[in-house]
Amino acid sequence: MKKNNSYTELSNIIKNSKKILLFPHINIDGDAMGSSVALCRVLRNMGKEAYILVEDEISDNLTFLNDDKYITENQDIISNPDLTICVDCGEISRFPKRTEKFFSGKVTMCVDHHGTSDGTADYNIVEPEAAATGEILYRLFKEMDVDFDKEISNCLFTAITMDTGNFQYSNTTFISHQIVADLYKYGLDSNVVSINIYENNSWEKIQTEALVLAGTEFVLDGKIAIAKVTAKILKKTGCKMNETESIVSTLRSIGGVEIAALVKEDSKNNTRVSLRGKNYADVSIAAVALGGGGHVKAAGCTIEKNIDEATEIIKNELIKEIVRYNEN
Ligand code: 5GP
Ligand code: MN
Repeated sequence: MKKNNSYTELSNIIKNSKKILLFPHINIDGDAMGSSVALCRVLRNMGKEAYILVEDEISDNLTFLNDDKYITENQDIISNPDLTICVDCGEISRFPKRTEKFFSGKVTMCVDHHGTSDGTADYNIVEPEAAATGEILYRLFKEMDVDFDKEISNCLFTAITMDTGNFQYSNTTFISHQIVADLYKYGLDSNVVSINIYENNSWEKIQTEALVLAGTEFVLDGKIAIAKVTAKILKKTGCKMNETESIVSTLRSIGGVEIAALVKEDSKNNTRVSLRGKNYADVSIAAVALGGGGHVKAAGCTIEKNIDEATEIIKNELIKEIVRYNEN
């Protein structure tokens, strides 16, 4: 990993740039979305021309953050950006269709908390100890003397609550709570945000979750739980793949499960895998071994095989992780 630049350096680069494009990762989650929208709003408040570029659909529970049309599907909205920033990601495989656009920036920057990020940008702040990219942005905004408002606070809260599993996961620290406590001063409405993101499930999603969980395979006395989201199930329920993200947490919540894997049939020969660890397992090892990445307790990869072959491959990697722990 490259050495980090300072918050002051990033702040100065931002102040000196006029046209700025933001690049959250594919399969945009609460942290990528909340962080990008917060940053985009801050930049516009500073008088910058700023947009967020994406390459896939935003899940319904996050669209409420995009009221002011920060996200654009027009990749050419700014032709010669002064600055491009990848947010909550730091590898080109995390923004594959926008790579060229990212490197068209006169200056490139990365704000991220994934240890597997390689620091491809000119200026990088990658802090694996941060629970969410939203925490890093909070510190950057303080350094920049930003006027926080309700919208910025709601966005940063979304980032932090979603990446900490609503303050349950082991990445949660007193800093996560301190930041959120401070955000209330600027009008954070945690109840409204929580209802939008957690209590807004479609009936199609709930039906899908039931079918997917019913097919769970348990391995090694229930230490590993693997479930499949097949195209057949989605066709039956009418649910979109991007609505299935939370099923992996439900799998992990089963008593005795140490590793949960959700295997998703993207297409006939493309399978996405979401991995979660509970107490001791480091799921990023299996993800990295298969060309992916992420964190110790939440990682993922894409396997260019059909869903059944991919499931066997991931199962073997996960067994190795449990065995590795038991041998140590
Ligand atoms: P999720 O299962 O929610 O898609 O991803 C869990 C974590 O792993 C997230 O932090 C995500 O950014 C990371 N992740 C998921 N898939 C990949 C991948 O293919 N490559 C890398 N580097 N990280 C991934
Ligand atoms: Mn994140």
